[in-house]
Amino acid sequence: MSAAAPVRGPVRAVVFDLWKTLVPLPDDVKRQAFTETARALGMRPEELAGPWAQTRVRRETGPLDVYLDGLRADLDAPWDDAQQAEAMRVRRAVHGRGFARPAEGAVETLTRLKALGVPVGLVSNCSSDVRDMLDASALGPLIDVSVLSAEAGLMKPDPEIFLLAARRLGVDSGACLYVGDGHDDELDGASMAGMTAVLLDLGEDHPWAGPRIGGLPEVLELAGYGGRAPDAV
Ligand SMILES: [Mg+2]
Repeated sequence: MSAAAPVRGPVRAVVFDLWKTLVPLPDDVKRQAFTETARALGMRPEELAGPWAQTRVRRETGPLDVYLDGLRADLDAPWDDAQQAEAMRVRRAVHGRGFARPAEGAVETLTRLKALGVPVGLVSNCSSDVRDMLDASALGPLIDVSVLSAEAGLMKPDPEIFLLAARRLGVDSGACLYVGDGHDDELDGASMAGMTAVLLDLGEDHPWAGPRIGGLPEVLELAGYGGRAPDAV
């Protein structure tokens, strides 16, 4: 698949990935969220792990409570509604800690984009409970359009989810930067949608021939804003 084109022409909007880009999600936190979910459901983590992994697409393309209802039926599992509610609560508690402390430079970068009048978007593969956490976080008021897979019924790297974000931003996808840590082949998907995809290089050795940055504040320079509002934004 071809790499992103170099940044050229005015960038009219910047679209970000969520996990590991704007909000940290270390592997141990991810594991903890899963383990506590399993225990709240009265399941051993090792017995839930397989079905959980195999049903990620269902979990991240619809409401979480509907997904859990379906999983319970599929597994003929004995957890009750109270246990299911508790599982959703513990997930929010674990993931919520990440939203309480966004990634380094995230709030600063989004605040500067906002001050420049640059529309900011977000495209995330996530479960539906992220909506409340996102909107209530320091990032919420700084993001103009957030497309969550659980609400859109689409997942990265499907180019359609990126095109949806661009449409909602009212900006041609070809005038959007997409910035992400590279999971789920998101950079290829964003490129296929016409965006200029930028790797936020967290040292994870994601192969990417397009532009890359080592920290979120570098987005402003890369987009050519240089601290000033771009023309016609
Ligand atoms: Mg990510």
